Amino acid sequence: MLIDKIKTIYYELLSYFVPEKQEYIVEGECNKCGECCRNIYSLDTYSEKEFRFMQFIYPPYRRFYIKGKDEEGNFVFSCIYIQEDGRCSVYDKRPKLCRNYPKKKLNHYLKMPDKCSYRVVKKDFRDYLE
Ligand code: SF4
Ligand code: SF4
Repeated sequence: MLIDKIKTIYYELLSYFVPEKQEYIVEGECNKCGECCRNIYSLDTYSEKEFRFMQFIYPPYRRFYIKGKDEEGNFVFSCIYIQEDGRCSVYDKRPKLCRNYPKKKLNHYLKMPDKCSYRVVKKDFRDYLE
């Protein structure tokens, strides 16, 4: 419905104005397991219709398909380009979204895939003072 599409665009625009508050740091190195390409989470996509619309707005998202839901009901996506050995078959042409993953500074907790060698560390006020 048109109203759902307008709402999706509105919330997307609104997210750009959320004040950045860095509370989490991502530490570690990539072990190239490929699990992040097989288990992509979206915390603000609530229906298949929204997912299709997101793919319509952001063409690079067309490589993703819905794999299922996690225990909290969030959609889990996977990418059509991930290979058995964990390598990306379009590595040189992968989108910015993939190049920037994982972001080193976050303002919300991010659940990393089970086999991921990165860890998300919460920083408190004392850490910033040091
Ligand atoms: S395009 Fe490549 S790097 Fe990006 S999610 Fe797909 S397999 Fe992973
Ligand atoms: S899940 Fe983590 S360790 Fe594995 S490929 Fe992705 S970023 Fe690298």
